[in-house]
Amino acid sequence: MDLASGLEHFVRSEEPLSRHTWLRLGGTASYFAEPTTPEELSTLVRRCREQDMPVRLLGHGSNVLVRDEGFQGAVVHLGAPAFCEIRVEKNILFTGGGTSLTHAISSAVREGLAGLETLVGIPGSVGAALHGNSGRQHADIGQYAHAAVTMTRTGEIIRRQREDLQFAYRQSSLNELVILGAEFQLEPEDPAALTKRMQELWIVAKSKQPTGDQVAGRIFRNPHGILAADLIDQAGLKGTSVGGAQVSERNANYIVAHPGATVDDVLTLMEQMRTKVVSELEIELETDIEVW
Ligand SMILES: Cc1cc2nc3c(=O)[nH]c(=O)nc-3n(C[C@H](O)[C@H](O)[C@H](O)COP(=O)(O)OP(=O)(O)OC[C@H]3O[C@@H](n4cnc5c(N)ncnc54)[C@H](O)[C@@H]3O)c2cc1C
Repeated sequence: MDLASGLEHFVRSEEPLSRHTWLRLGGTASYFAEPTTPEELSTLVRRCREQDMPVRLLGHGSNVLVRDEGFQGAVVHLGAPAFCEIRVEKNILFTGGGTSLTHAISSAVREGLAGLETLVGIPGSVGAALHGNSGRQHADIGQYAHAAVTMTRTGEIIRRQREDLQFAYRQSSLNELVILGAEFQLEPEDPAALTKRMQELWIVAKSKQPTGDQVAGRIFRNPHGILAADLIDQAGLKGTSVGGAQVSERNANYIVAHPGATVDDVLTLMEQMRTKVVSELEIELETDIEVW
């Protein structure tokens, strides 16, 4: 039986993943699913398991670089309203796994709940942010997580409480297939003061990223608290190009994909950055962006 058989209302085949990733490059996914309910998601997940079909989650595609070969399996995107709700009860913010992190932060701030605003400017979905414990030098999303609801590879839904959750630098113990939703425990604060702080943090964050009109991806993790951007800059790589891919002039930890850039251009430039930082500074950079 074809994986999509009877599920055509939310599963399509040979979907170009360039449409769904920030770098806008790469090949197709054999199947691309946008379930509208957890039940549809569970049906798909169980069917993938029966058919031995690999499954991957794709949030907003800001941390994924897809190779030209694409992905031979099913890619699931939680864009439907059922996965993107936001609710506040007292000092707890409930969000779906597909919710945009920016939206979650601004909702918390509007309700006078502090904590998540430290992450403003990080693109992507709440599910992916928890999966990789997204954050900045002095804050990460995991420190606010109170509980998470996940779906296993057998389609079972489980709830994990704070004491079951572990977070480290760009890592979490949330290793089930899907993060369906999460609860964040936040601190009450005056909404006006909080809004002002969020706006200031937003301006700082945006000034350190490529400009909004550029197609770009953030490439390496920060080794032991040192900014990867500073190391790449010290190695003299700012502005270096391979084909249409260029190390950002604004922040050397980003690669900008100019029109005509290929996946190979990006991968070759990444390798040059890694090699030059090792040879000049004897520090090994670890890739943060996932290459599919
Ligand atoms: C301009 C820019 C600035 C950035 N700044 C930062 C920063 O300051 N700090 C930082 O930590 N990162 C930063 N990043 C990286 C990126 O924003 C984060 O990794 C973010 O969490 C990715 O979210 P996404 O929805 O785009 O995930 P995707 O790129 O779609 O996916 C990333 C990973 O999450 C998994 N995933 C997605 N959704 C789910 C889900 N619901 N359940 C389980 N797994 C899931 C995917 O399978 C994949 O493994 C930046 C990226 C860019 C382009």
